[in-house]
Amino acid sequence: MLLNVRDLVHRPGEMRELQQEYVLAEPWGEGLAAVAAGSTIAVNGRAESVHEGILLTGDAATEFDAECGRCLQHFTETLQVDFTELFAYNPTEADEYGVHGDHVNLEPPLRDAIVLALPFQPVCRADCFGLDPDSGERLTSEAAAEATPAVDPRWAALAGFSVDNDKSGAEH
Ligand SMILES: [Zn+2]
Repeated sequence: MLLNVRDLVHRPGEMRELQQEYVLAEPWGEGLAAVAAGSTIAVNGRAESVHEGILLTGDAATEFDAECGRCLQHFTETLQVDFTELFAYNPTEADEYGVHGDHVNLEPPLRDAIVLALPFQPVCRADCFGLDPDSGERLTSEAAAEATPAVDPRWAALAGFSVDNDKSGAEH
């Protein structure tokens, strides 16, 4: 994702529009949601020469694949993130966010912005009812209303725990 900025280097005030598409060689993200290898990252914005370096501002759009945390269904969703990155002149060798020769590397800031924007606990839709605990089928709203236990299973476990304690207390 190298961008040639030769026309902007050390020319403060110069700017140009940026419209690029990149195809990922490897997936971005490691959780339940990730941008798959082969996905396209569409970048729209501008590159601007400032005294300290090259300022990139814009947005990046792509699609990610995810597994719903409730019903386990796979789904694809679009994602758009804004980004602002100043690539400074004279970076150290290890500094990825700098102007190297007449290039800047868009990959590190884009990857950071996109991976951070991926949902940590993806759901196929906000009102997904998940799976029926008995049949394993996806629940519809009516079925979910019937199947929803009166007590949350987590609290049920706690209730059982306190009951046991009470019993043992009574025996002593
Ligand atoms: Zn779902």
